[in-house]
Amino acid sequence: MTPFEAAQFYFTRAADELGLPDSMRRRLLVAKREVQVQVTIEMDSGEIVTFIGYRVQHDNSRGPMKGGFRYHPQVDLDEVRSLAALMTLKTAVVNIPYGGAKGGIAVDVHKLSVRELERLTRKFIDALHDVIGPDIDIPAPDMGTDSRVMAWIMNQYNKYHGFNPGVVTGKPAEYYGIPGREEATGRGVGIVTLKVLGRLGRKPPQTRVAIQGFGNVGSHTAKFLRDAECKVVAISDASGGFYRADGIDVLAAIRYSNQNNRSLAGYTGADHITNAELLEMDVDILIPAALGGVIDESNAERIKAPIIIEAANEPIRPEADHTLAERGVLILPDVLANAGGVTVSYFEWAQNRQHYKWNLDRVRQELERGMTQAFETVWDEAKQRKVSLRTAAYVVGLERVAKATTLAGLE
Ligand code: GLU
Repeated sequence: MTPFEAAQFYFTRAADELGLPDSMRRRLLVAKREVQVQVTIEMDSGEIVTFIGYRVQHDNSRGPMKGGFRYHPQVDLDEVRSLAALMTLKTAVVNIPYGGAKGGIAVDVHKLSVRELERLTRKFIDALHDVIGPDIDIPAPDMGTDSRVMAWIMNQYNKYHGFNPGVVTGKPAEYYGIPGREEATGRGVGIVTLKVLGRLGRKPPQTRVAIQGFGNVGSHTAKFLRDAECKVVAISDASGGFYRADGIDVLAAIRYSNQNNRSLAGYTGADHITNAELLEMDVDILIPAALGGVIDESNAERIKAPIIIEAANEPIRPEADHTLAERGVLILPDVLANAGGVTVSYFEWAQNRQHYKWNLDRVRQELERGMTQAFETVWDEAKQRKVSLRTAAYVVGLERVAKATTLAGLE
């Protein structure tokens, strides 16, 4: 299955559960608008290179469309389309007044200089400025983009449309951003992980956690869970994995990665393992926080963790999801688990529009409230309907989107 076929598969399961008519299914599945653009820049060497960029605006029945820009070599229309649909559900699950969108450029950012990255981003916005906007579609960071890129987006958009800080979220806190946005996705993952432990009557100090990915999401998840006294026994990034039975010194690993160009390569505080070994480790909780599709038919049988928290988007392919569900593995789905990022994006956007500065305490408090409420709603829905947490989350999201679509009418 391609990523979009996977999204469609889960969508159909939830639509069946809700008894949605075919006409509504099609209306909710097909994106409102899909844009593909050419982004041609001059490299530092003087070479002219053309990249392909995308923005898929999936749905706006509950508010302006919202979702990140991903810069990664694997970005293509099918992936962006599926991630856009996922955003529609995600914003509905945490009940913030947005629809869903996603965009990106097929590019390896590690091969770009800072100036090339800036030129690429500004050219991308030159091509897209007419279809985004603070009341239309609001981009944010995703894989391969960060607060620096968001600052360039705001600055470039403003050249066309005047001062509009709410056109993009995930900006630097010092440049119209909000404190706590960078940690928000990881923190949200941590908050719901503790909720799962609470529901299962497990104690954090007796909980061994393995986290795949040590970028923004993975590292903040590790820090939050370490602060909550969970034992983070394994971490990894693109350079490989690390294991320590007594628990990794998470703060030391973060310091190391920050000083080492955001890479754990050469870290000596733990034994070396591979990314594949990390996924198959005998731990209490596995948190994939990197690429999509890392758990598929080829390794699903060998996954030993009884609980998986999807910090990444679509880390489990549907075929593997089925195998794991049959074995009774509890999976907290991406549309709930990693919704902390877009939740704090909403606070940032609200702050920009009110010209009122929120402080970190308030951001954290409201994030905790939003994630807790969404978790409880989804957990109860799953219990009531006797379905997986993924189906329950899709049901909660889809029901809200379908309702708004119906209320808006047709004309
Ligand atoms: N890219 C993030 C996600 O997948 C954040 C989106 C946002 O803040 O709009 O949820």
